[in-house]
Amino acid sequence: MLYRYVGSCGIARCGSDVRGTPVTAPADAAKWITSAGGSRTPAEVTVTFVVTAEGALLVADRHSEHVACAGGRPVRAAGELCLALEGGRVTVTRVSNQSTGYCPEPETWAVVAAALRAAGLEPPDGFDPRCEFRRCEACGALNLVKCGVFECAGCGADLPCEYNAQTAAE
Ligand SMILES: [Zn+2]
Repeated sequence: MLYRYVGSCGIARCGSDVRGTPVTAPADAAKWITSAGGSRTPAEVTVTFVVTAEGALLVADRHSEHVACAGGRPVRAAGELCLALEGGRVTVTRVSNQSTGYCPEPETWAVVAAALRAAGLEPPDGFDPRCEFRRCEACGALNLVKCGVFECAGCGADLPCEYNAQTAAE
């Protein structure tokens, strides 16, 4: 399944340039970690990532929007990655599906794991945190469901059990 951008930042404002850097081999990830640290290589860096419709893994600075990373295009998965460099070896220490722009389902894990393996990186056991997104049917707000409490943070209405972040009419 492809996830369209459903966040609040207009795609027009974000532009259609793909800002993400492709990661096709561990060396790409290693380069990213060393460049992020400047003179001092950090133990771990967190980056924004998307998996494109073609299955490519793109990463960007964690402060950038997923939609900018993907150039406004639909994605197969999105979230955050923690990468660590130890003795020249890149390890993926944590992966989440936290993207309020695309609201990907926890089921996108298979796509993410496959994209990491294709880049020569060993995926961890699953998403951490494993995010559930729901759109409030009462006020339309997108919610990141916390601690299994299906209640809208905006208006307090109950959130649906079924995933609905992508199905809202545009
Ligand atoms: Zn609401």
